Amino acid sequence: MAGVEFVDVRKSFGAFPVIKGVNIEIADGEFVILVGPSGCGKSTLLRMLAGLENISAGEIRIGNRVVNGVAPGDRDIAMVFQNYALYPHMSVAQNMAFSLMLKRSPKADMDQRVKKAADILGLTKLLDRYPRQLSGGQRQRVAMGRAIVRDPQVFLFDEPLSNLDAKLRVAMRAEIKGLHQRLGTTTVYVTHDQIEAMTMADKIVVMHDGVVEQVGRPLELYDKPANLFVAGFIGSPAMNMIKGRLDTESDGRFIAADGTVLPVANPPAGARGRDLIYGLRPEYIAPDDNGLPTEIIVIEPTGYETQMTVRFGGSDVNCVFRERIDAQPGDTLRISIDVPHVHLFDAETGQRLT
Ligand code: ATP
Repeated sequence: MAGVEFVDVRKSFGAFPVIKGVNIEIADGEFVILVGPSGCGKSTLLRMLAGLENISAGEIRIGNRVVNGVAPGDRDIAMVFQNYALYPHMSVAQNMAFSLMLKRSPKADMDQRVKKAADILGLTKLLDRYPRQLSGGQRQRVAMGRAIVRDPQVFLFDEPLSNLDAKLRVAMRAEIKGLHQRLGTTTVYVTHDQIEAMTMADKIVVMHDGVVEQVGRPLELYDKPANLFVAGFIGSPAMNMIKGRLDTESDGRFIAADGTVLPVANPPAGARGRDLIYGLRPEYIAPDDNGLPTEIIVIEPTGYETQMTVRFGGSDVNCVFRERIDAQPGDTLRISIDVPHVHLFDAETGQRLT
């Protein structure tokens, strides 16, 4: 096994830069997810690690070896693609053994590896079937089986769940995570789905427009997003963002654009007088008979909780309440804000104020 390192990695297609100096350290055995919106460059980064795309500048290391010029087949990695790329005319067992056949591995060794991978993935009874005779989830497992039999130093996954329906995606998330816990192989996984990233990763790399916005453990990113991009990207429903400024007279008050006063705790010195964004996650708002009056815009009971959009501070604000609320759009709802969980960002730079 081995760690992976990106050192000031850059990539341009023609004159168009798509990776603009990326540094990431991935420890041996770590499960790291690259996440970001479509076009941010995450697949390009993964393809450079796989050797499928060359690197314009910088260095990629697997273990202690610089792999910039190393052919994909010599990198000791195995990649699982979005479309599985199974061979339709080969059985499950043959699909799984294919890369070993190319390497002319001894038959006994090959059979043993396929058997072991099939066992791990619950594919033992399906080894003689063909891809067309499998469900989407089973095909995905065969694609993972092909990677496992190679016993690589690093697994790469490129949006492996995006062709599955929502229920199966949740099941496969747990399976991939369980697999990583059992095998302990360094894994780099690309997705645009922040829930996938939050639920599976040891460490998340949030990318945007060819740069890394923040690297951290899932809850670190959730609790302390470094900037407005990460704050808006991680979390569902998304963080509410209310424009305004700190009160010039009193430390504990934020004045929203429409003049509403909202509470803040210990704002940093120097934040007064600047345009700010007040970041508030939906679950840190609670109904409170003595609280701030708001107008209910939308009310959506899910049974377990009530999702609501209420209007205050010049914004439509999403809330999630862990209770049932008997109310109608147009009604007034009084709310309170869990002040220690309020985030403040500089509106101009987008950076978090600590
Ligand atoms: P998605 O989630 O949509 O796959 P992504 O974050 O993985 O997006 P990339 O596929 O890495 O994004 O693409 C990053 C940028 O590079 C995009 O603007 C894309 O149009 C561009 N790009 C990717 N491959 C090429 C190529 N072969 N030639 C030119 N431009 C490319």
